[in-house]
Amino acid sequence: MSSQFGSSFFIRTYGCQMNVHDSEKLANLLHHAGLDRARDESSAGLLIINTCSIRDKAENQLYSDLGKLRDWRDEQPGRLIGVGGCVAQQVGDRLLARFPHLDFVFGTHNLKLVPAMVSGARSGQRAVEVGESRSVDRFDLPMAPRPVGEAARCKAFVTVMEGCDMFCSFCIVPATRGREISRPASGILEEVRRLADEGVREVTLLGQTVNAYGRHDVKRGQAGRSGTMAFAELLAELDHITGIERIRYTSPHPLFFDRALVQAHASLKSLCPHVHLPVQSGSDRILDAMRRRYRRESYMEIAHSLRSAVPGITLTSDLIVGFPGETEEDFEQTLDLMQTVGFEDSYSFIYSPRPGTGAAEMPGGLDRAEGRRRLDALQGLQRRLTMDYHRRRVGSSTRVLVEGPSRHGAGQVCGRDPHHRVVNLVSGGGAVAGEIKPGDLVEVEIVEATPHSLLGEAVFSGGGPSVSV
Ligand code: SF4
Repeated sequence: MSSQFGSSFFIRTYGCQMNVHDSEKLANLLHHAGLDRARDESSAGLLIINTCSIRDKAENQLYSDLGKLRDWRDEQPGRLIGVGGCVAQQVGDRLLARFPHLDFVFGTHNLKLVPAMVSGARSGQRAVEVGESRSVDRFDLPMAPRPVGEAARCKAFVTVMEGCDMFCSFCIVPATRGREISRPASGILEEVRRLADEGVREVTLLGQTVNAYGRHDVKRGQAGRSGTMAFAELLAELDHITGIERIRYTSPHPLFFDRALVQAHASLKSLCPHVHLPVQSGSDRILDAMRRRYRRESYMEIAHSLRSAVPGITLTSDLIVGFPGETEEDFEQTLDLMQTVGFEDSYSFIYSPRPGTGAAEMPGGLDRAEGRRRLDALQGLQRRLTMDYHRRRVGSSTRVLVEGPSRHGAGQVCGRDPHHRVVNLVSGGGAVAGEIKPGDLVEVEIVEATPHSLLGEAVFSGGGPSVSV
């Protein structure tokens, strides 16, 4: 394997966890093809931009990035630039026409073609591959060992399904990621077993509507033939894998949150007591306009079932304010739902139209100042709910999977507890960074609440922190 300048790559990633994971897969493919991961862009011979179209004006941002990269490419002969992800899927060959220094463009279904595109680009061939594939072959990607010097990881993402059939009126994902497709369970189980052997303790199952996994096959009675199963059954299979201490998944859709999944939370030892369940709005009128296909009441029933089945479970969500036509009364229903469910945390945004979506054509958009006022009110309520929750945790015990140094420095390390809360760790007044390393699961007592995280003390037993490795 060459480590020459011209054979090293760097991937600049925007957007969601699915994109982050796609970049990991891409890195493995390139590694497998004989390229090394560069430390940074300045030492790379190949730069790939993995784009996201969820952000406002994502296309313009990409154009600006590509404009600035002309000098980067000219600095060293043989340098190459590729663009992938959701914007690439949407814009396709217009990118090559507009940027002569761009070498190749690949869509969200075409990761496997990238090594061949790189080799074509080395002999001057520019290429675009944005075709949609219905084949499950796309999940069969080679895995490469971690490059030398890179720390062993304790957490990993695992794709279980891709695409989305829901067509929410504000969302571009069905156009950029294509239709729903579930991966055969055998490949998922094999990947998770291999990750456990590598030392991974926590897996997060990924899918645009992750709990829709296998639903089409199950409904048509074809699960056996296609190798899929219901999502709760998949979780039960994964729960048996030795070494995997924690299973998470993101993002589920309320429409597919069935009793079996609630029951899985109550019964599976590795399934974490945290669900991130996007609600988007608390008003039925707005949920209809968003094409979310559930009612506020049914959402609250799921939340209630989860809280009854798993005492102490944390529920987090995504919300949009200022959707076209949202009245003050609709907004108040969203505040009311947030208060009633008592989200421990949430992400919220002011609606902004995405070209190519149904909602972009809808009348009744809010002016920016009113949108800001509603967002401030919603986030103010969330801050109070989060802080109240953090205060209730003080004095309780938990287990933290340590990820690395804390942003607060001072010798602290940080990680997350099963409820997905960030916990910064100190030992009874002393630093613990030297005693505890990433990947350790540490017994912790929560000693202080802050707005965004918890402070915990490692529980000492026999002269050192109580750690299981
Ligand atoms: S469920 Fe709705 S918001 Fe989520 S990816 Fe599909 S279309 Fe987008």
